[in-house]
Amino acid sequence: MCGIVGYIGKREAYPILIKGLKRLEYRGYDSAGVALINKRDDLNVYKTKGKVADLENFCSDKDITGTVGIAHTRWATHGEPSSVNAHPHYSESKNLAIIHNGIIENYAQIKKNLINKGMHFRSDTDTEVLVQLIEYIQVTRKVPLLSAVQMALRQVIGAYAIALLDKREPNQIIAARKASPLVIGIGKDSGEFFLGSDASPIIEYTDQVVYLDDENIAVMRPGEPLKVVDIHNIALNPDVQTIDMNLGQIEKGGFPHFMLKEIFEQPECLKNCMRGRVVSRTVETRAMTDGKKEGPMQSHTEMGVVLSSIVDHRQQILNAHRIIIVACGTSWHAGLIGKQMLETYCRIPVDVEYASEFRYRNPVVTKDDVVIAISQSGETADTLAAIKLAKEKGAFIYGICNAIGSSIARATDTGTYIHVGPEIGVASTKAFTGQVTVLCLLALAVGKEKGTVSDKDYQEITTQLWDIPEKMKEVLKLNNKIADLSRTFTYARNFLYLGRGYSYPVALEGALKLKEISYIHAEGYPAAEMKHGPIALIDSDMPVVVIAPHDAMYEKVLSNIQEIKARDGRVIALVTKGDETISKIADEVIELPKTLECLEPLLATIPLQLLAYHVAVCKGKNVDQPRNLAKSVTVE
Ligand code: GLU
Repeated sequence: MCGIVGYIGKREAYPILIKGLKRLEYRGYDSAGVALINKRDDLNVYKTKGKVADLENFCSDKDITGTVGIAHTRWATHGEPSSVNAHPHYSESKNLAIIHNGIIENYAQIKKNLINKGMHFRSDTDTEVLVQLIEYIQVTRKVPLLSAVQMALRQVIGAYAIALLDKREPNQIIAARKASPLVIGIGKDSGEFFLGSDASPIIEYTDQVVYLDDENIAVMRPGEPLKVVDIHNIALNPDVQTIDMNLGQIEKGGFPHFMLKEIFEQPECLKNCMRGRVVSRTVETRAMTDGKKEGPMQSHTEMGVVLSSIVDHRQQILNAHRIIIVACGTSWHAGLIGKQMLETYCRIPVDVEYASEFRYRNPVVTKDDVVIAISQSGETADTLAAIKLAKEKGAFIYGICNAIGSSIARATDTGTYIHVGPEIGVASTKAFTGQVTVLCLLALAVGKEKGTVSDKDYQEITTQLWDIPEKMKEVLKLNNKIADLSRTFTYARNFLYLGRGYSYPVALEGALKLKEISYIHAEGYPAAEMKHGPIALIDSDMPVVVIAPHDAMYEKVLSNIQEIKARDGRVIALVTKGDETISKIADEVIELPKTLECLEPLLATIPLQLLAYHVAVCKGKNVDQPRNLAKSVTVE
């Protein structure tokens, strides 16, 4: 899972590539590199362990001229993070240089064969094997580069987005993809081309893009139209799309970290997510005055949910015998909330599966099942594989993604984008609340069509959902208070998060956020399970975050808090505004605006995101780029 950038045209490539890498650093940042072809047709590769800033330092005394170049920020899968294993990789003759995102699964066998033929390798990566194979085919079969690429890609098993330079054909970049993302930007009159793992390195220069499909290869030559063929050399018509994304969306906008910016964006994101989907209409009724005669006309507003996916695929979705949600990480937590909503309001049984487990079982899936795949990036490798498996078994596939045109969005039968804008912080925040919102809309739309949700609930939930962005703004006002209390908890080596019902997945998500960015061990538990084990951990050093809004579970959770206090634990309680009981016994109290039980996760998650953020900042951690993690997990 790495970032790929490319440029070919009339401008100097290096500044464009570096800027693009910085935008893609969220995808990986253990090493970085660039390959440039200069005026004398030298193919220069510079790479180093570390971040893009380290690459810039490294290049400060190098020849960085050239109007053709490719660049990479890596998240190692094969071979430790090091300068040697960083991309680009030269071929043996150094005529070719490649960058790659993905994994070549059969690299070991290919490498063995090539070593037997006398080839030498410099790195431990699977990527180098691919460029060596291409060169080997080029030389031994005496074929042009494109044919060699096609032959090589027919041999490899795995996932790739690649870009390739050949110093003997200096006016060309060849790029290809399978299961890893790749976007091509077309400059004015095809005079220049841009390449990116997503559109963020491109949008500054052009809004005309082509998302390559699996096993497609693009040949970019300035002044010529974009050529796209598949690995069998069938010519294809590139589907040029206009994208609507602005640069401001992907910059920090005055916040110290992307994560904080994205936490604060949530009210606006949710409005965008609901726009056009939550609708209101005025209903006119004639009141009866004395039971017989007709009275005056009266009008009131009714709220409703419209999802185009349900309109277009009514039968498949409404007739589902079962729903299986497949997801990973934070998206899986959103899935757990979705399960409760879908079961309650649609009366359809729902299973929530880790995509990584599901794909390697032989799960019972039938054509009567609807599989909902949730992924922010839409590129999560395990979720994609789970979709493929479910498709083979005949299920109808529904995607919930953020990245438009992503692999998952294209692999599903239908779906709903969460429309929260690019999420750059590695720890997911706004995508989670966007996913929960879409799941709620889905439960309401399906429940209404099936008649399994009462009119009263339907109206009330839709209306209250519409009010959530304003309530989120109130919660965000707690930022300073949470920053203060975070300081007192940086000593902790463990945290426990407890919740019941809808608050249980929130507890899991809160614990995950803390682990991801502050490296403090944290566990989320259903509150009632505490007495079956975790209670043994509680002492005066153990902060316990309890999500205790005033809902059906309130009294039960209150008892849990008393049990914790009896053992000297330190309780940080999230309660509904006006709470008088828990507020008296908890050590720290965070008050949330009142809403319906099923919508509580949308509010309760925010203080937990802020808590994780501030604890991590107090501990001096790199919040946007936590160690060992990357934003979109495009490898298994
Ligand atoms: N498998 C390649 C490597 O380890 C690329 C990894 C990636 O996609 O970041 O170098």
